[in-house]
Order: sequence, then structure tokens, then C-alpha cells
Amino acid sequence: MTAMDAHNAASTPPLSRRTERVAGSLIREILKVTQRLEVISFAGGLPADDLMPKLDFAALHGDPRQYGASEGEQPLREAVAARLAGLGLACDAEQVLITSGSQQGIDLVGKLFIDEGSPVLLEAPSYLAAIQAFRVYGAEFHGLRLSEDGIDPEALRQAIARRRPAFVYLIPTFQNPTGYCYSEANRRAVAAVLDEAGVPLVEDDPYRDLAYGPAERTPICAYLRRAPWVYLGSFSKITAPGLRIGYLAASPALFPWLLRLKQASDLHSNRISQAWLARFLEGEAFERHLANLAGVYAERRDTMQASLQRHFSGLAQWRLPDGGLFFWLRLSGECDTLAALQIALASNIAFMPGDPFFPLAEQRYPALRLNFSHAAPADIERGVARLAQVLGECIEP
Ligand code: PMP
Repeated sequence: MTAMDAHNAASTPPLSRRTERVAGSLIREILKVTQRLEVISFAGGLPADDLMPKLDFAALHGDPRQYGASEGEQPLREAVAARLAGLGLACDAEQVLITSGSQQGIDLVGKLFIDEGSPVLLEAPSYLAAIQAFRVYGAEFHGLRLSEDGIDPEALRQAIARRRPAFVYLIPTFQNPTGYCYSEANRRAVAAVLDEAGVPLVEDDPYRDLAYGPAERTPICAYLRRAPWVYLGSFSKITAPGLRIGYLAASPALFPWLLRLKQASDLHSNRISQAWLARFLEGEAFERHLANLAGVYAERRDTMQASLQRHFSGLAQWRLPDGGLFFWLRLSGECDTLAALQIALASNIAFMPGDPFFPLAEQRYPALRLNFSHAAPADIERGVARLAQVLGECIEP
């Protein structure tokens, strides 16, 4: 045994309880497999490679090489505040914090609100990596059943009355994993319940610009009058996730605390990415880019819809998503979707089993998530056909 082998074989020293709660992410494991060229992947939430804007670092805002402000670059904060104001979320640039992806915003929110055993209310199903991040801090989850036009405001009221949560985490617009979008009435009703109880809302909104038809998109935060709020946004899905730039806006009572946590975490986000984005957002190219993206993704969504109608009727039920990146298939019988995934991967098709998206095992139903933005249209048809064969053999009627 070499010295290096001996070193590697040494047992792990005691770790924090927090760390021991961290499970590996299934999606990261699947993404490793899907990097093989021959695999048709419906698994990740990846933007299409060929649609990402070219990065030209020759014309940046200022000189981004030095350490910068924890709040983020001012031109970018101002551009974000202006966009939010346009959505009806009146907000000052001083309330905007640039984050290293919206995933960092999720993590900061976890740090801000969660002690061991703190109750957190969220949709069932919800975003896998938010569940994972909140679990690290010791959250106790309570899932609110999500239907096509949102959660039931009365169920929210009752859940809050039973046990007051540290916060409520929602993805009201083109949700991950379901693609569902809350109706206007539901948004207002949810806001009214939160205002009445004074419970903080964390609204995660990375898909809002990927809309393929008319859909209600006013942030629920915009309807709040009293409850504290944190609104999370991202440039990952609409520019390039490798930039790692997202943002949060927060009500004045929360903002200074989030800023301190950001400082303690990584000082500030990447200034080169921020400088590039600030320039990109200034020009008309950005709006053109968004329109192009929505056009191409709408076509891919329609291709997947046609393929699903051909191959999946009888096997699953789904709703045509009005935006975002995913179809959510509710399977028509019991199915071990993890076992089905292994079989599908053996024929070079990847998808996301539904189970990990449920914060609590008892709320699960057999489902899977299919991404339609990344695969080319011809591959979508081939992949869906093959997947239907695999699932047809796995679903118990
Ligand atoms: N929230 C949701 C709902 C997401 O789907 C994602 C990306 N999959 C994120 C946050 C994180 O995005 P990013 O960190 O790349 O901004």
C-alpha cells in the first residue's frame, strides 16, 4: 500500500450532523451518464447548448478583476430592479442581491430561517435541490398537494394554523418538476393567507421568461401587503447556467440579513459574469434572444406533446405546459421508476423519476419528469417511443 492509498483509506473523521443529512443528488448522478453523446436525455433542466448567447468578454462593464461589492454590480442590480418593477413587484435596486445562481439564494434562505426541526411548507412535488438544501439545515417538511392551478389556499391556511412554518417555499410559474402555473385567483388567495398569518414567502421564479402562450405570471410577492418575502430569480435558463448568476430581492426587514449571509458565504458573485450580463441586458439583443428561445422551446414542447400523444396515451396523464422546461407524467399504475430508469439508461434514454421531488414519501404518486429543451426534435420522438416501451413493461395496471 502506498502512502497515498493509506491516506485515502483512512476512516472519515466525525462530521457535523448537518453534513450527515446530505444525500447524494440523483440528478447529478444521472447527468454524469447523460454526458455520453449517444444518450438522449430528458433528465436535466438544461438549456439547449446551441441557443446560449456567445460570450464576448471584450466589452465588459468596468474592470471586473478586483474584489467587488457583496451586493453585486450596481448596473446589474438596477437592471434587475427595473425588470421586477415591470412585473408589478415594486422594488429598489438596494433591495436586490446578486447571487451565485438562484441555488445560492435558496441556500441563503435556508440559513436565514431554518433551525433544527423548523417546519417548512412547500409544494408536493417541489424542486429537488431546494429540498436537499433545506434538509441540510434540518428542515421538517410539510408538503402541500400541488394541482394544475396551484396549491389549495384553504389547505395552506390550515397547515399554518396547525404548525406555524419558518417560511413557505413556492414555485408558482411553470413549476419544477410539474410545469404547472398558478391562476391569478390562486395567487391572490395565497397572498391573502400569507398576509393574514404574516408568514414569510420564498418565491422561486427561474422559468418565468420561458412562456409559450398566455399564462398568469404576476409574482405572488407583488400581491403581498404585510408578509415578509424573498423573490428568487435566475439567468441560468435564459442565458447560460455556467455564468452562475441569479439574484434575490427581499422585503426591507430581511435584506440586510441575507446580505450578511452572502458576505459570510462567498464575499460576492463572479464579477466577470455580472459585467457581461449587465452589458447583455442593456441592448435589444437580450429581448430578441428571449423571443428566439421561447420560439424554439415552444416547438420542442409541441414535438414532445405529439410524441407523447402517439406513445403514452393509456400509460400516463399529463398537461401541456404553458412554459418552462418540463412535462410531468402521472403514470397510470404503480411503477418502480428508479428500476425503470436503469432499464432506460441501458438503452441510452435518461429521464427523472418523480420520487425525489416529493418532500415526504407518503405524498408520492408514480410520476416522472421529462425535459424538452435539450434534446433535438428527432431525438425527442425516438426517445419518447423507446421510453414508452420501457415503462409499458414496468407499469403495473
Ligand atoms: N430553482 C429552481 C426551481 C430550479 O429549477 C433551478 C435550476 N434547476 C434553480 C432554482 C437553480 O438555478 P440556478 O442556480 O442555476 O440559478
